[in-house]
Amino acid sequence: MAMNRLAPPRLRLDRIPAAAWAAGGLAALAALIAFFTSAGAAVLMVLAAAAAYWAMREGSRFVIASSGDDQIELVGLAELAPLLEALPDPALLVDAEGRIVSSNAAARRQMHFEARGQFLTSILRHPDVLEAVQGAVREGATRAVEYETPAQVDRHTRCYVAPVTWGADRAAMLVFHDQTARISTERMRADFLANASHELRTPLASLTLLIETLNGPARDSAADRERFLAMMQTQADRMRRLIDDLLSLSRIELDEHVPPSDRADLAAVAREVADSLAPVLKERGVRLDLRVPTDQVPVVGERFQLAQVVQNLVDNAVKYTPEGGVVTVEVAASGDREEVSAQSGRRWEEAGRVALLTPTAAANRSYAYVRVEDSGPGVSRQFLPRLGERFFRVERELGNERGGTGLGLAIVKHIVNRHRGGFLVESQPGRGSAFAAYVELAEEG
Ligand code: ADP
Repeated sequence: MAMNRLAPPRLRLDRIPAAAWAAGGLAALAALIAFFTSAGAAVLMVLAAAAAYWAMREGSRFVIASSGDDQIELVGLAELAPLLEALPDPALLVDAEGRIVSSNAAARRQMHFEARGQFLTSILRHPDVLEAVQGAVREGATRAVEYETPAQVDRHTRCYVAPVTWGADRAAMLVFHDQTARISTERMRADFLANASHELRTPLASLTLLIETLNGPARDSAADRERFLAMMQTQADRMRRLIDDLLSLSRIELDEHVPPSDRADLAAVAREVADSLAPVLKERGVRLDLRVPTDQVPVVGERFQLAQVVQNLVDNAVKYTPEGGVVTVEVAASGDREEVSAQSGRRWEEAGRVALLTPTAAANRSYAYVRVEDSGPGVSRQFLPRLGERFFRVERELGNERGGTGLGLAIVKHIVNRHRGGFLVESQPGRGSAFAAYVELAEEG
């Protein structure tokens, strides 16, 4: 950390630019010649004095260090270094010649900039930024420039360039703001809006068409009327389901950053959901195998949201299990993150498996899980990582739409995320799928 006036200053020779060295050398040479010759000595002396003055001025813009190890005396533009250090964002000070006079810790850490008197162009080539630096030192103009750095994940940066006048020196201060998170959130929001309106528009278009048909060709046929009204009902139901799921998702997202502090009994939640589904199971001819302990499985969580998790998983399992099949719902207390993942999500040897959500590692944390297993068609490996993405439906990818919303698993994922828990899937085409969600066990008592 730079400090002021703690020990006698010493010129840091490594910080002085080549031009200053050259001017100093010229001054020494001129003085030497003046010493040995008489003709023109006066002129040479004046020249030497001017060159020496310039060399001193140029050199003084750079850091001068004390003889102590890390205590640094700052002179000229470099005096602004402590100010730069105070900024949380990466910042650079660039002089009128385009050399970096100073960089703060954030710049060195995040952008690997070093303040060693090198030219800005050697580390940053974006023409708009360089033009803004010129504008700042020449015309005193302030500008903000946005640019993209291609990488594995493209980074978006907004660079503020402002003029700085310090004594006789003119410089430009560059402050870098990372915009990557904001831009990706904006894109997600725009995608989401586009997707949501597209999803709503499809049933709406069907409804409009059906109304036109009822008003026209089907007007006088009672049988057609009945058929078309039933189709309209299906489309209206779909719209309602979409709106319900969208509202549900946005409500969950609203307080996703606030983990629940309540306690709930995961075993009771699973039993209640199973009971409420009895009529559907009967109608579909699907048997439910409930493997839930009679004792409580207390977890940290919001009862209603946990019920939503189990409900959505069982709904899917029942939907995809053919008549005569079995859906198994299992609840158990397990161990830490690795143990619960192994126990709830690694049972079938041939299955593809993906952790759709993993909580950050935390010591002394134990989890309980609910695993919902079906004997449906399964999901092929390539689609597994996309489960839980809004509006993603395997059927649509395969061209046989079934009319789901593609929001059920996204709701599960967000609720589990709010609970700081985990969510995983294992699936084997032809055998079935198993989804498991785990949340933190509540302490006894
Ligand atoms: P929805 O079921 O309403 O379409 P979900 O978000 O619940 O929406 O599920 C997303 C997609 O995941 C489904 O469209 C389906 O392709 C696939 N899926 C979910 N659960 C299962 C399951 N138990 N078996 C097979 N595929 C499933």
